[in-house]
Amino acid sequence: MTTNKFGWKLENTYQQLPETLYAPLKESKFSPNPSLVLFNEKLAQNLGLEFDSKDKEQWTNWLSGNEFLPDSTTIAQAYAGHQFGHFTMLGDGRAMLLGEQRTPSNHLYDIQLKGSGTTPFSRRGDGKATLYAMLREYVISEALFHLEIPTTRSLAIVNSGEKVNRQFAMNGGILTRVAASHIRVGTFEYVFRSQPIETLKEFTEYTIKRHYPTLIHTENPALELLKAVQEKQIQLVVNWMRVGFIHGVMNTDNTSISGESIDYGPCAFMHQYNPQQVYSSIDQHGRYAFENQPAILQWNLSKLAQALLPLIHENENTAIKLATNVLESFIDQYRNAYLSMMRKKIGLLKSIPEDIALIEDLLLWMEENKADYTNTFLYLQEIEIPETSLYDDTQFQQWIFRWNTRLEMEYNDKKEAFEIMSRVNPVFIPRNHLVEEAIFNLAERNDFNAISELLSILEKPYQYQENKEKFMQLASDDFENRYQTFCGT
Ligand code: AMP
Ligand code: MG
Repeated sequence: MTTNKFGWKLENTYQQLPETLYAPLKESKFSPNPSLVLFNEKLAQNLGLEFDSKDKEQWTNWLSGNEFLPDSTTIAQAYAGHQFGHFTMLGDGRAMLLGEQRTPSNHLYDIQLKGSGTTPFSRRGDGKATLYAMLREYVISEALFHLEIPTTRSLAIVNSGEKVNRQFAMNGGILTRVAASHIRVGTFEYVFRSQPIETLKEFTEYTIKRHYPTLIHTENPALELLKAVQEKQIQLVVNWMRVGFIHGVMNTDNTSISGESIDYGPCAFMHQYNPQQVYSSIDQHGRYAFENQPAILQWNLSKLAQALLPLIHENENTAIKLATNVLESFIDQYRNAYLSMMRKKIGLLKSIPEDIALIEDLLLWMEENKADYTNTFLYLQEIEIPETSLYDDTQFQQWIFRWNTRLEMEYNDKKEAFEIMSRVNPVFIPRNHLVEEAIFNLAERNDFNAISELLSILEKPYQYQENKEKFMQLASDDFENRYQTFCGT
């Protein structure tokens, strides 16, 4: 481990694991004419990196994959996963782990390139990504971070300088992704299905040490790991439900063990409240629809449980019983966390049984009246929003009356409730049409204006900002009806 003048302090702890869990990459890939498009200076600072624009060429070489980082071995990680319910062997087919950065605050973060060329896991893919898809991941992951939702982050975007062939030839892009780790439920599935139990044991110990070190000395660390991941993932999905985020492809390989949101492919933010909302072009049966996210999470956790069974207990029946107990606690745990979050969205900290109907009736009204999920809560907080005529509706006003009565049970002054609401109800989300516009302008026209403004607004999503109505506006019906997202390829 060394530090150089750029602040790299890299480790390769993953490579202490058996070699069957990754493939070392010996040669860097060559992008013909790479240029650095976005660089996240604040994140770089947190990581202890020292970026100086006079060294831009050096950074571009590193962040395009043209040159590997000093004192680190680059690898592609092996994993598997259930994709739309079907098991497949996968692995980093278009990603490479440059190393793990030890930060000044002593945390360890994976530094990974996405879209930098083929690896032994690429199968028939080209290992590349479009600039468009990588920019989308950059914008949305950073938006989630500022919404205070655990997520992988984006350090940089490089335009690879070459065209990649998708529906048509598009500009190629490389994202530098920063993650607590890239260990997924699917990594456990890979190890469980293809490796000896000693490797499963070693890998589980590594994961616990890296993400849940306090569990090392518990009586049944594997069982405790399952509980801990369940808890973290419940918090994560509740946060998604809070802001209307639809991940879009909650395969087990996209469910992280650290509890971070990962893999921004066909994800999008819901505008009008619709529990069945799906944006992804490939999700034809709505498996990953907004309201299905918790159920899918539970299903994904059952795959983690299965992979951990041999470590939970040597007797399979006992192991199944112990794991099932954990999985069965999911429903109550999720429901409690969800209700507590929804209560805060309407300003309540205490709980009375009638609150459930109050919340459900609001959601039902929003669904029937196609109300914007974000702006409706802002309306309740008496924040100025672009379109209010919808809320003159008698049924809605009756709901407000009930809500006011309920608030009076808890507060003398409604402002106290607004205070709570303002911490959980964003004013600004990355609205789909604005994200598309900003990315298109940069990727196709080299125009940075829209993306710069969008990224800066999304840095303070809970703060009302004057003259920014445009960013609170819904997409046109026409856009909303046509809008489809694609797996980030
Ligand atoms: P994702 O949809 O990004 O979660 O990827 C699912 C799997 O497909 C992962 O194993 C990726 O590495 C692989 N993959 C996706 N796109 C490509 C590509 N262009 N070339 C090679 N592998 C890819
Ligand atoms: Mg993935």
